Formats: sequence, structure tokens, C-alpha cells
Amino acid sequence: PSSGPENEPLTVVGGGLVGSLLALYLARQGHSVEVFERRADPRKGENQEGRSINLALSDRGWRALQGIGVEEAVREVAIPLYRRVMHDQRRQLTMQPYGKEGQAIYSVSRAGLNQRLLDLVDEEPRVQVHFNQQCRRVDLRNRTLEMFDTAAASTRVWPYRHLFGTDGAYSAVRAAMQKTDRFNYSQQYLNYGYKELTIAAGPDNSWVIEKNALHIWPRGQYMMIALPNLDGSFNCTLFFPYEGDVSFETLQTPAQVRCFFEEVFPDAVPLMPELEQEFFENPTSSLVTVRCYPWSVADEVLLLGDASHAIVPFYGQGMNAGFEDCTILQGLMAQYGHDWLTIFQQFQQQRKPNADAMADLAVYNFEEMRDRVADPRFLLQKKIESKISAQYPQQWLPLYSQVTFSHQPYAEAWASGQEQERIMQRIMPHIKSEADFDQPAVQALIAQELARRQ
Ligand code: FAD
Repeated sequence: PSSGPENEPLTVVGGGLVGSLLALYLARQGHSVEVFERRADPRKGENQEGRSINLALSDRGWRALQGIGVEEAVREVAIPLYRRVMHDQRRQLTMQPYGKEGQAIYSVSRAGLNQRLLDLVDEEPRVQVHFNQQCRRVDLRNRTLEMFDTAAASTRVWPYRHLFGTDGAYSAVRAAMQKTDRFNYSQQYLNYGYKELTIAAGPDNSWVIEKNALHIWPRGQYMMIALPNLDGSFNCTLFFPYEGDVSFETLQTPAQVRCFFEEVFPDAVPLMPELEQEFFENPTSSLVTVRCYPWSVADEVLLLGDASHAIVPFYGQGMNAGFEDCTILQGLMAQYGHDWLTIFQQFQQQRKPNADAMADLAVYNFEEMRDRVADPRFLLQKKIESKISAQYPQQWLPLYSQVTFSHQPYAEAWASGQEQERIMQRIMPHIKSEADFDQPAVQALIAQELARRQ
């Protein structure tokens, strides 16, 4: 095989969520690893972010954390979210469970999780992390990295033999690959941006709205969501058009922001004491889907995480998918040892269709969250679907559960979810209320549909 000596160090560019987890996986496989990270060490002093930003962690992510033995420690600081709670414009609430009894997605702090992984990396003698190192250029032909030391303002060239690009959606490693022949690349921005806002904690760090839920204010063409933090506050994210009648463009003054929020998010506004300030101080960030292929160069370079498949955040799967990349790579390393050429090729072939499916799912879920969850017919359909799933657990798992609470490849989940949706479209005309599920004619129709699916 085209592998180098066993003790040849591996190079990782990007020590974010996926890069730090990957470094641990590589080290546990017996490799020495050098990680280069553009930012300063997030555990040190000044650059601690004031705001806490959280992410939804679900089964695929948990499994990857379990693989390096950190699952329990993360679970201690994670908040389970058992359901969606929808807030309508008249302050009415509607609930929708995420899965079966006891199933949850988990709100975790992005910074906390990254720091925890970096602590583990520190305990791993085989890994060395270099902070303040921005990769400026990758010379694929000569296998070198041009690294800019942001603290010393100096540049150094490092050789590499096997390079892992985990430097995120705007990857410098990928940028070098983009200039090679037959490299496919696309990036697609939504016409929506997002802004982080805060629901403040109540007295004694209490949660002022339900703690164990993901809150959604669906408003058709836009929405706000909120995830709980451990300190009683909630991280809100407003997903909002850049341009148009109701858009970032039309909200230009604090008074306009307040007036608009009071009208459309009336129950949230009193809980957001710094609304106007945050609205104008926090950045408006864009939402991009990146697709590319191949993800590797010979046995020399491999992209993982957002660097190879950045997706929009509406399924809460970006990090989970990147963590699952590590699980898949681990399986291939166990199988093929130091044969990096085979490992890289197998990895990209297995993973690419799943990353593409996840990208589609993420865009699809945006529409569901901002619009369809406000529709009583849609919620009724979800209830009927969960009844079907309870009655035929071997034959029917709702799409959301396949994506979130299983390890089924994303592409299979997406195909099966689309098929189930077509079946629901045939069943729903016979349903006016939940009770109709037990009607003999409906039961017969469901049995017939399932038999046809076999
Ligand atoms: P990143 O987290 O972007 O890390 C890349 C790292 O590389 C960074 O540390 C960066 O400093 C470093 N770097 C970048 N360029 C260079 C360079 N040139 N040289 C050296 N280092 C470099 N996912 C979920 O699973 N659940 C969620 O609920 C969720 N919510 C999200 C909400 C929002 C608003 C957004 C934007 C994303 C969300 N995601 C979520 C997606 C998730 O954030 C990403 O998928 C995940 O962070 C990808 O990890 P990564 O390590 O590949 O990239």
C-alpha cells in the first residue's frame, strides 16, 4: 500500500469541533498528530466570547463522542429537549414531541464542547495543537502549508505527508483543491440571514419558558427559534430575509425593531431586555450550502466536516454529520490500517451521497420549521404518522427520527422519508381528526400501503 512509515505525523488544519474530535480519533489509532488552529486557545483569557451559542446534539454526534469516551461528561452539561414548542402570534402554544417518549435532542454550548474536546486533546501525548496559526496556502504539489502566525505576525512553511482539512465552510485546504483539474464545487446562499438574540434568565437562573424544549416562532416567510442554556437564558436565532417587505433591510431603527417584534413575537419581547441593542450590535450572518468533490487528493489530503459539506442549520445536523465523519473514518482506519489511499477513497465514496442528502434535508426542514409547523393539518399529519409508527415500528420510522435518532445513512433516510410522505398524502384525505386513525377503512388503507412497500 501507498502508506508511509507508521510513526509519520498526521497534519490537521482547523481545531474546531470536527478537527479536535478527529485529532483524538487519529491519536487513539496510534498516530502522532499536529493540529493548526487559526484562533487563539479559546480556554485562555480575553477571547472568551461573552455570548454563549448552543447547538443541538443528537444520536450521530453522541455516538462519535462515545467512541472517545467523552459522552458522559458532555451529557452532564447538556440539556435534553424533548419537543418543539410553537409560539403563535396570539401567544398560544402548540407542542410536538421529537420522537418517542424519552427521546431528545440536546442543547450544548458550542464553546464548552470545543473546550472539552481541546482538554482531552491536551491529555493525549500524541497530539500537538498550535494555536494562532492561520493556513494561508496549501501547496498540493510540494505538500507544504504556508502558516501565518497571527500572534507573532510571521509566516512559516510546514511540510505534510497526510493532511486533514477540517477548517470549516470557508476551508483554505479546499481552496487549494478547487484549483485542481476536475474538482467540482458549488456554494449556494439562502436569501435569509440569521441573527443571534437572547431571552434573559429569570430570578435565580430560572428558565422563563419551558426549559426542555426547542422553541419556535414560525411566521411563514421567517422564524425565530430558542434553545436553553444552563444559566437560565435562551439563545434565540432569528432567521430572516435579507431583502423584501419584511426583512433586515426594512428594520433600520431601534423603534422599528421593537414595533415589529411586539407585533410578531409578542410573548418573546418582554423576555428580551436587550433586544434593540443586540439586534444592531450582533452581526447578520449568511447561510450557505457547500458541495464539492472529490474530498481527497491521492493519499495526501482529505476534507471532513464543514470543509467538505457545509449545510444550513435547520436540521441541527451540521456538527452531527461532521462528528459522524469521524466515526466512519475510524471504522475505515480499523479496517485498512495505514493504507490511506483506500481509506480516503472509501470514505468519500461512502460519505458523499449522505452529505448531499443531508444538505437537501436541511433546506427542506427550513420550510417545515418556519411555515408548516404552524399549520394544524400538518401537526395532525405528524400525529397520525406517529400512530402508524407505534403500530408498525418495524416498518415505519418518521423521517425526523431516522435523521436524528438513528445511524441510518442520511441518503437512505431521505429516500425512505420521501416515500413515507407520499403515503401520508394518500392517507390524509381520509383523516379529519386523530380519532379517524382507528376507522376500519383507514386502518385497511394503511395496511395496504405498508404491504405495497414491502
Ligand atoms: P468549524 O466549526 O467552522 O471549525 C473550523 C475551525 O477551523 C475553526 O476553529 C476555525 O478557526 C479553523 N480555521 C478556519 N480556517 C482556518 C485556517 N485557514 N487555518 C487554520 N484554522 C482555520 N450543527 C449541529 O449539529 N447542530 C446544530 O444545532 C447546529 N446549529 C447551527 C446553527 C448555526 C447558526 C450555524 C451557522 C451552524 C449550526 N450547526 C449546527 C453547524 C455546525 O456549527 C457546523 O457543522 C460545525 O461547526 C462544523 O464543524 P467544523 O469543525 O467542520 O467547522
